[in-house]
Amino acid sequence: MEVISELIKPFGAEYEEYLRDESRCSGEAGFVSFPTTEDQVREVLREAARLQTTITVQGARTGIVAGAVPQGGLILNLSRMKGLSEIAPAEDRAQITARPGTLLTELREKIEKQGWFFPPDPTETSASIGGMIAANASGALTFHYGPTRCWVDRLRVVLADGDVINLPRGTSFAQGRSFELTTESGRTLRGFLPSYNQPDIKSAAGYFVRDNMDLIDLFIGMEGTLGIVTEADLRLIPLPQACHGLVIFLPCESAALKLVRTARGEHVPEVPTVESKPVAIEFFSKEALDLLRSAKEKYSAFEAIPALNPAWHTAVYVEYHACADEEAEESICQVMEAAAALGSSEDDTWYGTNRRELEPIKAFRHAVPEAVNLLVDERKRQWHEITKLGTDMSVPDEYLEAVVSMYRRDLSEHGLEFVMFGHIGNNHVHVNIIPRSPEEYALGRSLYMKWAEEVVRMGGSVSAEHGIGKLKVQLLELMYGSQAVEEMRALKRLFDPGMILNPGNLFAVQR
Ligand SMILES: Cc1cc2nc3c(=O)[nH]c(=O)nc-3n(C[C@H](O)[C@H](O)[C@H](O)COP(=O)(O)OP(=O)(O)OC[C@H]3O[C@@H](n4cnc5c(N)ncnc54)[C@H](O)[C@@H]3O)c2cc1C
Repeated sequence: MEVISELIKPFGAEYEEYLRDESRCSGEAGFVSFPTTEDQVREVLREAARLQTTITVQGARTGIVAGAVPQGGLILNLSRMKGLSEIAPAEDRAQITARPGTLLTELREKIEKQGWFFPPDPTETSASIGGMIAANASGALTFHYGPTRCWVDRLRVVLADGDVINLPRGTSFAQGRSFELTTESGRTLRGFLPSYNQPDIKSAAGYFVRDNMDLIDLFIGMEGTLGIVTEADLRLIPLPQACHGLVIFLPCESAALKLVRTARGEHVPEVPTVESKPVAIEFFSKEALDLLRSAKEKYSAFEAIPALNPAWHTAVYVEYHACADEEAEESICQVMEAAAALGSSEDDTWYGTNRRELEPIKAFRHAVPEAVNLLVDERKRQWHEITKLGTDMSVPDEYLEAVVSMYRRDLSEHGLEFVMFGHIGNNHVHVNIIPRSPEEYALGRSLYMKWAEEVVRMGGSVSAEHGIGKLKVQLLELMYGSQAVEEMRALKRLFDPGMILNPGNLFAVQR
């Protein structure tokens, strides 16, 4: 086969895995490239323009909305563009410069040894820094620390034509909804931000826009549609001195929901108050615990998860970071008192008092989506068209119980197999439907659409953290309307006039 350039290879069977990401969807591609420097990225873009091909950007391909799944054209895989600078400390914080293919695990390994902490924690620690920025990844600790956006101080973004925007935080702001940005070649790009208002809750749906916003935020969560992130300055804080986590198993779901509200500092009748807020509050439904019980029996990979007492119904996880162990212990004691009032005893808990002890608990958390994926893979062998149906929606505080009972009512009415788990502190529970047939898959999809409509009516978001990718395009339009989607398209056209970057992400491309 013809070698197009040293950097671009024609797509061949040896690259098969790059057609997929963790959404388990598969695409197609004509070319593939693994640049290791920004200059190489720019060269690939020039060559892609000559070949008149579209480009799909990939980090570590752990995304679950098919954002990195190519739909023809060239795969630009950044997994070999790795590297971290030395840490630059400044009083109570520090900064590190990362190249996009660096994995979160690699970043953590370097900084934690020196006593620093990067809080974004999207469960899947093999995510790349570029992918986390492009997706504005969140995770359990977002409840306290915010999403990736809050920890990015500078970005370098290569645009579709190879020009570069270097954007330190605090230097370029929109005026209302209009803005201009100057590229490194001295070109000024003038445009308008879309006019929609984002709900004031955890959301990763569509471009981040606000009046007078810092323009760096436009490129965090843009899902690779506006440019390619080639470098980022990340903000670090000192590693928390004390890190305590507690899984509480409760006798029923309503007790778990009450515990969540109590842990958030809300008043719940007849439940003792909890004074300090955790950094994370996570939820595991009865079905999620049952799935883990059976995965533990079936797969050796799940052996590390501690045994789950058959009497345990629902679980809530809380984590506290503090300056001293005594402070964290005090908070944990208050949560245990609240849990006792809701029917849980000390024997119904797993407690970890440092990072090492928390590892099996984190493995337990990670194991839920992993177990779902394995089961969906099994089903897929029989029914190829089946994929996981995973919701990622958040609602305002007042709708927490309403949204959980809506999911439960509809799922049991239709007899679907499912689990519910996730970031309940942010009223953000993932429902994963595990279809047993194409009919159930179709039914699950229609339920998902119905829920999205309800969630939008509640003032919620159709995607709290995973983004829109290619799988949730319809939901983005449902949330903001067709006019807003047209405005997003116009914004993309400003940065990428040929609409070549990540076609199919966020919205269908109209050239
Ligand atoms: C088991 C499991 C649990 C997960 N839990 C969470 C969770 O709790 N919270 C959460 O937020 N996510 C979660 N995820 C999703 C995923 O890990 C995150 O979205 C992660 O940020 C993706 O990073 P990545 O490097 O794998 O990106 P990829 O999957 O490779 O790409 C993601 C998107 O970013 C774009 N992109 C990648 N790199 C760049 C770049 N350098 N420049 C421009 N665009 C780029 C891609 O085109 C794509 O649109 C989970 C995934 C799994 C498998």
